[in-house]
Amino acid sequence: MPAIEVVLGDLTTQHVDAIVTAANESLLGGGGVDRAVHAAAGPELAAAGSRLAPLDPGDAVATPAFRLDPPVRHVIHTVGPVWEGGGYGEADLLASCYRRCLEVADALGVRSLAVPAISTGVYGYPPADAARIAVSTLLGTRTGVDVVRLVAFDEGTRDLLETELAAQGGR
Ligand code: ADP
Repeated sequence: MPAIEVVLGDLTTQHVDAIVTAANESLLGGGGVDRAVHAAAGPELAAAGSRLAPLDPGDAVATPAFRLDPPVRHVIHTVGPVWEGGGYGEADLLASCYRRCLEVADALGVRSLAVPAISTGVYGYPPADAARIAVSTLLGTRTGVDVVRLVAFDEGTRDLLETELAAQGGR
């Protein structure tokens, strides 16, 4: 299992091998964190993404990081579930996002990975439930990734992630 750390900050300025973006199925760039990632990586990111689209919810694929500053070499795009009340497989799909991101990272030899709070923005996933799933899935997945940095963009999300990490024995 990877070491997990929680930070408050901007995903696009993390010094890691790869960053995960919360994309939509088109991989052309969306709102929220995906908008910031596409802005930082440049228009090549949408061009590369469109060649791999459409991407199903729960899945992940990688592209180069293009204009993102080193050491970031890869962007891993994952599509979270849209929250529809919890009865539509949302929890399984969200767990699948985190698992697939680690699998894709492993295939690339990534050792450090930064991940946002997938689905908790525009897609409306309740943040406490999402934090529990993020931490439990990461802690429960066998991987060669040494460090997963969970990047929260607001203090509430940061606190939820830290609480889960402490409760689940990740730190
Ligand atoms: P989704 O469509 O999967 O809900 P969003 O991008 O709308 O994705 O939101 C996911 C999370 O990313 C939210 O917690 C949001 O506050 C956060 N976020 C937005 N911009 C950034 C950023 N630059 N760095 C890190 N997290 C961000």
